[in-house]
Amino acid sequence: MSGHLTTVAGVAVDTRHWIGGERVASAATFTDHSPIDGSVLGEIARGTAAEARAAVAAAKAAFPAWAATPRADRARLLHAIADGVERRLEDLAVVETADNGALLRSHRRGVMPRVAHNFRFFADWLLTLDHEDFDTRGHSNHVSWDPAGPCVLITPWNAPLMLATWKIAPALAAGNTVVLKPAEWTPMTASLLADIAAEAGLPAGVFNVVQGLGSEIGDALTSHPDVRRISFTGSVPTAKHIAASAAPNLTPLSLELGGKSPLLVFADADLDLAVELAVEQYDNAGQVCLAATRLLVEESVAEEFTRRFTEKAARLQQGDPRELPTDIGPNIHPRQLEKIDGFVQRAIASGARAVIGGERRAGQFYAPTLLTGVAQDSEIVQEEVFGPVLTLQTFRDEAEAVRLANDTRFGLAATLATGSRERAERVTEQLVAGTVWVNCFFVRDLQAPFGGSRHSGVGREGGTWSFDFYCDVKNTVTAPKGWKDHG
Ligand code: NDP
Repeated sequence: MSGHLTTVAGVAVDTRHWIGGERVASAATFTDHSPIDGSVLGEIARGTAAEARAAVAAAKAAFPAWAATPRADRARLLHAIADGVERRLEDLAVVETADNGALLRSHRRGVMPRVAHNFRFFADWLLTLDHEDFDTRGHSNHVSWDPAGPCVLITPWNAPLMLATWKIAPALAAGNTVVLKPAEWTPMTASLLADIAAEAGLPAGVFNVVQGLGSEIGDALTSHPDVRRISFTGSVPTAKHIAASAAPNLTPLSLELGGKSPLLVFADADLDLAVELAVEQYDNAGQVCLAATRLLVEESVAEEFTRRFTEKAARLQQGDPRELPTDIGPNIHPRQLEKIDGFVQRAIASGARAVIGGERRAGQFYAPTLLTGVAQDSEIVQEEVFGPVLTLQTFRDEAEAVRLANDTRFGLAATLATGSRERAERVTEQLVAGTVWVNCFFVRDLQAPFGGSRHSGVGREGGTWSFDFYCDVKNTVTAPKGWKDHG
């Protein structure tokens, strides 16, 4: 570590903000630790309201020229960023793993290629966005998708660069400029992305990064009158705070929030597949908003399901996320670990039984946990834990399954395991969820709408839905008469 540069897993990372095409320091810093071993990764610029305002000012200044840049040129630049991501894929993967503790092999094979794809997909989608035309009594209607202005994008730590670029790419493609505020626990790859964007030739001020604590700089960003869109992924309490902060300016919001999604296992399901889907919910140490953390299993197969689940879960290897055999890495932060354990111990104290797990392990790990004997209205069933903790409840019939599935304040996703197509269609229709997976999990196409119902979010992003959000859609109605130039 020296000056404003730190070395993370052998990769040099600038720890300052990126504002108006320049590195900008703050008077104070905060320390970023690795969840793998607690080591210090760097001292990061601790932004203040002044830097937040400077970033919005830079985004505002860069907006007119970027908005006026032809779509094809914007798309070319986004592809150049994707090229840069691919060139630096290994750097991004090792730095992300050091910073958030998720599996290195996933970062290499899945996540970072997806980051590049985010840019390519929205660059290409932009070029297919039609300016619709239709006729009303001889008057032509012309619908255009205009850039909206500076966007503030606020992202969490569980999939830092993936979730950030899924917002950055459509925002930039639409002709907007961006201020990104990454999570305090995972600031590193956002900084590398700033380097990559600059190398790709993105004009100064089009993309800005402000580092710091949300509690200190959030309001300066979200209450700023020059900000035209805010897209936030994170927790419900922060979302409420942001909504209140944005309200005086009526700044449009896209909110992707938490979940308490169910996995419904019907007796007619392929039980091995159902078990596989259930065990998959421990991925990323359970730090996945979409995770189906409530296993709802038909009574007649519950015993067999639990036996096979326990057997399979016992084979999961928890350990260093950089090593190939590891299935589950550490949890992000000691504070998060305490929160997880608090949920589990309170559940056990009120009568739940830990079929597996139920305790911390050495280091920053939590044992994959399955709790039974939980009441529908209990905290452990109703609240998002964001750790490797699942509950199992049984149901007698379809109606009860649907009732339990829908009975939380969330509505992000739901997964079904069933051998009956008719049942799948019937049940899906009744579920409150932004995404339903049938006999699969986590298959996501960028052209599909993504988001949650109820407290899981407001709005949808993905494909055209992203452009609906990031653009000011305008309809121009033109009369057939009144022209003087061409008669
Ligand atoms: P938080 O809400 O605590 O933080 C998310 C982001 O908001 C961070 O960058 C944080 O900064 C920032 N922030 C905090 N306070 C403010 C504020 N007052 N104003 C503006 N920004 C602020 O969530 P977590 O980081 O704990 O993320 C986990 C949550 O994210 C879970 O609930 C999970 O379900 C949800 N999530 C949802 C997804 C979805 O697509 N639906 C996907 C992934 C996660 P800082 O880090 O500095 O506090």
